[in-house]
Amino acid sequence: MPPEPAPSTPIRTTGQQLRRRSWAEPWKIKMVEPIKVTTAAQRATALRDAGYNTFLLRSEDVYIDLLTDSGTSAMSDWQWAGLMLGDEAYAGSKNFYHLEDTVRRHYGYKHLIPTHQGRGAEHILSQIMIQPGDTVPGNMYFTTTRYHQEHAGAQFVDVVVDEGHDPANPAPFKGNVDLAKLERVLTTAKHVPYVCVAATVNMAGGQPISMANMRAVRELCARQHVPIMLDATRAVENAWFIKTREPGYAERSCGEILREFCSYSDGCTMSGKKDPLVNIGGWLSLNDDQLADKARNMVVVYEGLHTYGGMAGRDMEAMARGIEESVQDDHMRARIGQVEYLGELLQVAGVPVVLPIGGHAVYLDARRFYPHLTQDEFPAQTLAAELYLDAGVRAMERGIVSAGRDHKTGKHHYPKLELVRLTIPRRVYTQAHMDVVAESVTAVFQNPDKPRGLKMVYEPENLRFFQARFEPL
Ligand SMILES: *Cc1c(COP(=O)(O)O)cnc(C)c1O
Repeated sequence: MPPEPAPSTPIRTTGQQLRRRSWAEPWKIKMVEPIKVTTAAQRATALRDAGYNTFLLRSEDVYIDLLTDSGTSAMSDWQWAGLMLGDEAYAGSKNFYHLEDTVRRHYGYKHLIPTHQGRGAEHILSQIMIQPGDTVPGNMYFTTTRYHQEHAGAQFVDVVVDEGHDPANPAPFKGNVDLAKLERVLTTAKHVPYVCVAATVNMAGGQPISMANMRAVRELCARQHVPIMLDATRAVENAWFIKTREPGYAERSCGEILREFCSYSDGCTMSGKKDPLVNIGGWLSLNDDQLADKARNMVVVYEGLHTYGGMAGRDMEAMARGIEESVQDDHMRARIGQVEYLGELLQVAGVPVVLPIGGHAVYLDARRFYPHLTQDEFPAQTLAAELYLDAGVRAMERGIVSAGRDHKTGKHHYPKLELVRLTIPRRVYTQAHMDVVAESVTAVFQNPDKPRGLKMVYEPENLRFFQARFEPL
């Protein structure tokens, strides 16, 4: 057992006595993927060619890639070995039954419908449960989840606690559902097909929801006879936060906490690209037999037969094994511990970050990096560009560019937050990479030579942040 639950803030102890016991990842490296070290001149050219948009950079020009944790995890030797055991039968692959058994054991749901990734499950769930005019409450929206709910004719209503929208509030469970808000929706809306609960809440910065809150949501929904559908994409990360922050759970394992948490819901959608440690895949779980039949009827049209749903047999095997590894406490301690390690280095350096540090990413507050820039000069986009220029670290803008335009007025949405997300892939980078990132972010923060911002020179119609192009002002 490591002597400490998570890596503590490193103290540079030259000449002093080292007071802590160090801690390291519960794995060693068997195969390496070289990454290119670029010069400042090469990065300047690459960034200009990419229109100052990190989404348009070629991955081979990136040194440390913190764009997203989606599908970017490193698989273990046991998962890679599983790929060789792929049963590629069209129907009834043994890997499907292995996956079904694994999901039942760890998540506890009765039926498993595999899909190509999370949004495939969201599509099917929305189509079989939502009627036009329905209302779906949720603890803050996620882009694809809300899209499918609205596409099926529902109106989404945000019922997350107010703290979830406040980047400086250090509350431990900023993903909690506000029970009063939820009750208001349940008692006034014409029809609520289900409540959508996300764990953790991605758009709030990877913030968790507590077991007590989930239990209370369950009791409230049971009184109103409304089912709960979990977005379980990062539910194991959520379980780790319950273990370390909620009284009464310190001695329980992540796996046990996950089982209890899921028991308060009626099904889930899942992106295998996050917690389950694979590069592609997902599933829909349901407890209700009739609903599961409907989902199986639909999955054959959009994804594939109900025993593969868009995944190869080998992909299902790798995911079953990934789930098994993802619920291990040692894995989660290292996963969340690495994100916290980066967050603490930045806090010690005085860099403005969203608090508390979330499960999958550290968010930089770009407004406090560049108070001289107006929102029309794209402070977060500018910061992401500066980070790439400094050391080849790729991050993602979450500000006015991501927020897009109001379709009616044609004006920009002006979100409260101008953030840059440093998202940590699982088991990919070492502590030394995190040191490089922290030093680079700190150097950019302290650089007295401030950038003048950007202007948008090409703007696509939909989801503009992916393809927009900029030039320096
Ligand atoms: C990534 C994600 C999804 C969608 O999953 P995909 O596999 O990308 O389709 C849904 N919900 C949350 C919270 C996510 O982070």
